Amino acid sequence: MKTKGALLWGLNEAWSVEEIELGDPIAGEVQIRMEAAGMCHSDHHIVTGATPMPSYPVMGGHEGSGVITKVGDGVVGLEVGDHVVLSFIPACGRCPSCASGQSNLCDLGAGLLSGQSISDGSYRIQARGENVIPMCLLGTFSPYMTVNQTQVVKIEKDIPFELAALVGCGVPTGWGSATHIADVKAGDSVAVIGIGGVGMSALQGAVASGARHVFAIDRCRGSVSRHSSSVPPTRMPRSKKRSCRSWRSPGARCARRRSSRSVR
Ligand SMILES: [Zn+2]
Ligand SMILES: [Zn+2]
Repeated sequence: MKTKGALLWGLNEAWSVEEIELGDPIAGEVQIRMEAAGMCHSDHHIVTGATPMPSYPVMGGHEGSGVITKVGDGVVGLEVGDHVVLSFIPACGRCPSCASGQSNLCDLGAGLLSGQSISDGSYRIQARGENVIPMCLLGTFSPYMTVNQTQVVKIEKDIPFELAALVGCGVPTGWGSATHIADVKAGDSVAVIGIGGVGMSALQGAVASGARHVFAIDRCRGSVSRHSSSVPPTRMPRSKKRSCRSWRSPGARCARRRSSRSVR
């Protein structure tokens, strides 16, 4: 089908919204009508080259949600009309990594930036007669996308699409950096540097882990004050001029362990 996509044709070039040719789902794939997509800083990395791509054009977007419109042969557990979130790392559920609970290391992720589909190695998108590499085999910057079922997660239909999309990258990246990587424990003091989508989620992960104090540090005052309403604070500084705010978690009062950890 013909639709549109936001493409990059080279390093440090502007995004170009133009017509693309999108393949119908083959075995193991579904087609999705996109309802929401997030712009992650990792999308900007492919503009600057911080995330090297094998070639261009590249279609951006690895965070998104939508509704399944077509289902290919052999797809299990997904049907037309399902609301879904896209995962920028596939999870087959059967490889050694998936079987041991580490689906973030799924074997199918080896070709994540190759642009070649998991299903049969073909390119599912063309523009100006050339094969297009969809970021993380997704490419959510389009009204429609065709993707392997291992990158699709079904969700309840009452979850707003714009919130669901964020769970595809920013929320688990930030939340997990506090709860898993920094391993925040009750009573810890935590500094989160940068309060964007990832930082805000790290802040919430720290609060949920029982951190005694969470320091939100950002160069942009508006960023801190804008996000502060998402976390129920028990104590906040009165000054609105500071760009560093702190929160104390209600559950931290009984904490015995105190240490400092930082989350970037
Ligand atoms: Zn991302
Ligand atoms: Zn796997």
